Amino acid sequence: MLFNECCEALSKRGVEIDDIVECAEFLHRPYDQIIAKEQIRANIVEILKKREVQNAVLTAIELDMLCEEGRFHNQKFADIVMRDDGLYGVDEVLAYGICNIYGSIALTNFGYIDKIKPGIIKELNRERPGVCNTFLDDIVGAIAASAASRMAHGKED
Ligand code: MG
Repeated sequence: MLFNECCEALSKRGVEIDDIVECAEFLHRPYDQIIAKEQIRANIVEILKKREVQNAVLTAIELDMLCEEGRFHNQKFADIVMRDDGLYGVDEVLAYGICNIYGSIALTNFGYIDKIKPGIIKELNRERPGVCNTFLDDIVGAIAASAASRMAHGKED
């Protein structure tokens, strides 16, 4: 199942589900004092079970790794991706794909978490020579933002 592949790939890149739980909690806690961490985790697991999400996660990680390994054909373009150029933006567009499934709350939360960069997102953004997390940081933000949206809707139901 691609769910396991995704969890393994994320873990290899330094991202555990609990790291994403922490980001989703950061977004959702102000609106819900009583929700348990386990419930937040369950929301993230549900999101990671969606094939469209899995494809975005695996695409992001493949691209980051190929770039890191110097396997892009165009060196000028590889440099743009490697330094996460402010005008690049395709990394965010891939991540929107996840948010789009979960609607406007996911999209607005994604913009917010991308600005604040809590926890693992900040860690992924830390510049380290030879490391490329250009795509992955946005994917993590999008999953957390989608979880926050899922929880907000769940609360209404
Ligand atoms: Mg990025």
